[in-house]
Amino acid sequence: MYVFVINSGSSSLKYQLLDMDKRQAVASGVVERIGETMGRITHKKYPGQQNEAKTSMDMPFPDHRVAMDQAVALLVHPEHGVIASRDAIQAIGHRVVQGGETLVQSTRITPEVIAQIRANFQLSPLHNPANLVGIEAALELFPHAPQVAVFDTEFHQTMPPAAYLYPIPYHFYEEMRVRRYGFHGTSHRYVTREAARLMGKPMDAVNLVTLHLGNGCSMAAVRQGRCVDTTMGMTPLSGLMMGTRSGDIDPAIVFFLMKEKGYNVDQMDAILNKESGLKGICGKNDMRDIHEAAAAGDERARLALEMFVGRIRKFLGAYLTVTGPLDAIVFTAGIGENDDIVRRMVCQDLEHLGIVLDEAANAGRKGAATAVHAPTSRVQIWVIPTNEELEIAQATVAVLENSL
Ligand code: ADP
Repeated sequence: MYVFVINSGSSSLKYQLLDMDKRQAVASGVVERIGETMGRITHKKYPGQQNEAKTSMDMPFPDHRVAMDQAVALLVHPEHGVIASRDAIQAIGHRVVQGGETLVQSTRITPEVIAQIRANFQLSPLHNPANLVGIEAALELFPHAPQVAVFDTEFHQTMPPAAYLYPIPYHFYEEMRVRRYGFHGTSHRYVTREAARLMGKPMDAVNLVTLHLGNGCSMAAVRQGRCVDTTMGMTPLSGLMMGTRSGDIDPAIVFFLMKEKGYNVDQMDAILNKESGLKGICGKNDMRDIHEAAAAGDERARLALEMFVGRIRKFLGAYLTVTGPLDAIVFTAGIGENDDIVRRMVCQDLEHLGIVLDEAANAGRKGAATAVHAPTSRVQIWVIPTNEELEIAQATVAVLENSL
């Protein structure tokens, strides 16, 4: 069975075609600069495999429908393609960032579901409208294929109210659903499922702390396979220090800066989302550049790294109080999968908590799931490459099977 997975952004469209019999992508690609005078499509046949073949084309993409049409043209292309016709696509899975409180699990797309995604625009003004544009384009291009929405927030829906409510007047929750939702849920769920499989346990029997460390960073506390707390909040700005996002700060700093500097709301938003985090401290937001600068003696780069890791360790300590006896710590995403220095710093001097890294196993980048704990470690430590597209495709198949 072929499932087409779509991740639609405001000016970009990422796609993957997965062969679900093999649980593997047979094609993937990205269309960039949609709506501009000139855009680009980069398409890969058999991505990540030995016979991978890449092609790219510059052409204008006036809207997402044209972008998707071109992606599909490449999927059925005699040279670059992998399927004979678009009819081979049996289902479509869409990434949707914010499900809010009404869309709590992956669901078949219906007019009511579209209305609910729209109703969540207020909570996710940057992402949900872009996701919906992708859904509408796909409905037009694939009128007969069943389509499923998979939400970044759904894995976190199992948090108890004490974890998802903020200590502000309760009526803001009642009126406007101001609460913690959490994000990267598709990734946290994927690595939770994989960790359980790799440890030979049922998913509902594992207690984990999962660390998704990419440009955006978040952690989840997982008790018996269910998320009980996560670092991102009503928006993806809270929690850990990230590439350009501040993560948690004293909220009064916002009022202070607005008052003292005369910033308006949009300026403050830009400062905390785009100018803060690693970049705010040392001017760089790519972890590879930060290591290079730190090794060359750049004190700010060293400080940024120390702060980044320090915040992860604080949440790790906090989450040990809610996961129950911890089975494993799981690292994933760009930094989590590739950065052995960050992994070592996160796990350093935690023997008293039963967390001991194996330095040799930890060394280097991990292209495949790898255990990196020492034999003496009570808690296992895993690096598991995330695969959000596969998770979306699996969720899509599960929804369709259950609705038969
Ligand atoms: P996104 O959140 O955009 O999906 P990724 O998961 O791709 O991001 O992660 C991007 C981050 O991963 C960047 O900060 C980058 O520096 C980091 N990264 C990628 N490769 C390495 C590496 N070999 N060593 C350290 N960091 C890396």
